[in-house]
Amino acid sequence: MAGKLATPVLPKGRVAGSARKAKHVPQRTCVGCRTVLAKRTLIRVVRRSDGVAVDLSGKLAGRGAYIHNRKSCWERALKGGLANALKTALTTEDRQRLEEFMSSLPEDSAEPLTGKDPQTGAEVSNA
Ligand SMILES: [Zn+2]
Repeated sequence: MAGKLATPVLPKGRVAGSARKAKHVPQRTCVGCRTVLAKRTLIRVVRRSDGVAVDLSGKLAGRGAYIHNRKSCWERALKGGLANALKTALTTEDRQRLEEFMSSLPEDSAEPLTGKDPQTGAEVSNA
């Protein structure tokens, strides 16, 4: 497939879909503090067949719950709100996984998430 496609010349002055206003913002409730917020400002936790996991992509299938990206909300959520929202009981493994994630969160401010990987434990065998 190395064909040259003729680029169609569009009439000037037409901008496709430029000033569209997205009025509908999906909202979710934080299971920690019960505040209703825009979905993208919350972290999704999803119940999978193999346990409860943090879903940073927000796209995993399964029953989901939403929590602020701050520790106080996670602490509260882990005390009961989360299990309740997911209609499941958190196993010890779930709890460990969630607490590990929680420990990477800021103390008490809703800052935007960074895509940083806290553990880069790549082993390089150098002979
Ligand atoms: Zn909250």
